[in-house]
Amino acid sequence: MSLTRKRVLVTGGAGFLGSHLCERLIEQGHDVLCVDNYFTGRKDNIAHLLDNPNFEAMRHDVTWPLYVEVDEIYNLACPASPVHYQFDPVQTTKTSVLGAINMLGLAKRVKAKIFQASTSEVYGDPTVHPQTEDYRGNVNPIGPRACYDEGKRCAETLFFDYHRQHGTRIKVVRIFNTYGPRMHPNDGRVVSNFIVQALRGEDITVYGDGSQTRAFCYVDDLIEGWLRLMATPDAVTGPINIGNPHEIPVRELAERIINMTGSKSKIVTRPLPADDPLQRCPDITEAKRLLDWQPTVPLEVGLARTIAYFDGLLTRSGERGAD
Ligand code: NAD
Ligand code: UDP
Ligand code: UDP
Repeated sequence: MSLTRKRVLVTGGAGFLGSHLCERLIEQGHDVLCVDNYFTGRKDNIAHLLDNPNFEAMRHDVTWPLYVEVDEIYNLACPASPVHYQFDPVQTTKTSVLGAINMLGLAKRVKAKIFQASTSEVYGDPTVHPQTEDYRGNVNPIGPRACYDEGKRCAETLFFDYHRQHGTRIKVVRIFNTYGPRMHPNDGRVVSNFIVQALRGEDITVYGDGSQTRAFCYVDDLIEGWLRLMATPDAVTGPINIGNPHEIPVRELAERIINMTGSKSKIVTRPLPADDPLQRCPDITEAKRLLDWQPTVPLEVGLARTIAYFDGLLTRSGERGAD
């Protein structure tokens, strides 16, 4: 085994982001152990990796202890879309909190470096815009999004306490809305919803008046930022924002997707879900300074690739219906 080849554990590795990460790590020559309970992840996402001798997939729920020997851990296991994380909110909090405890206990025992996929949701419905890492957030602790937001906040607390108390080497990243191939077609997230609706020729469902904003990062840019963070010296712990600061209103996203797909779909409005943040956009000054990182894939290019992915998926399942 070469000196630079590592044994890397990826929890949530069969999910949208996890599958892209596994792919990149294998390309770099590492041995990857993907751990997933397949709640929102799919075997299809990792099917192309299964024959690779450097890849291994294991069905396991991170709320239970895990005893393996690894050099690095990426802790991604957690449903990420509001529809999925609100399906079983108690399990969502358990996944974030017990999952963090178990993975930190593992990292402590084997002295592994550990990465946490935190989220811009720790800022809640932000009163500071764009969000900087020192902003402490505006989260409703008893609302429908709290199982996710507070679970992730508690996981960050655990990461920093293991770091201070046990010297565990940590890297915490706050991920902003990310899109790309292998997003789940039915997970209710805005990019996948709008593209699937446009391709099927169904109404495009804008929640509220569509003036709320988000800033969307293409998956390849995001993963590049993660790998750069993991390679920084131990003194760099984060939390660090990784996202694309190009902010747009949700209604404008709908219009762009209709134009790009040539769809005949009409925009319809639906009630805005409770606690839906009005605006969200990362301040990535720290990522630029510490990682020399910034997104390179413009929204039009990333959307075109994502539309092509869903077009293929829906064509294969006979659901393509917009023409
Ligand atoms: P995803 O739902 O596609 O992936 C999550 C994966 O975790 C799935 O494969 C799922 O089966 C697995 N999982 C869930 N609970 C588990 C458990 N108890 N034990 C083992 N595996 C479990 O979502 P994603 O978009 O790939 O998100 C990955 C991570 O990034 C999550 O932690 C999410 O909170 C974070 N994140 C994502 C975004 C985004 O825009 N995609 C934004 C912020 C944060
Ligand atoms: N743990 C694990 N794998 C390991 C080591 C620990 O899953 O290789 C889990 C175990 O469930 C433990 C938790 O991580 O309860 C926290 O471990 P830690 O050593 O911090 O605490 P303790 O063992 O005292 O609970
Ligand atoms: N949204 C929408 N229509 C949809 C799905 C989502 O208008 O079909 C809105 C949602 O209300 C939110 C934004 O798009 O304001 C982003 O939603 P998503 O669930 O993708 O992620 P969030 O940033 O809310 O976690």
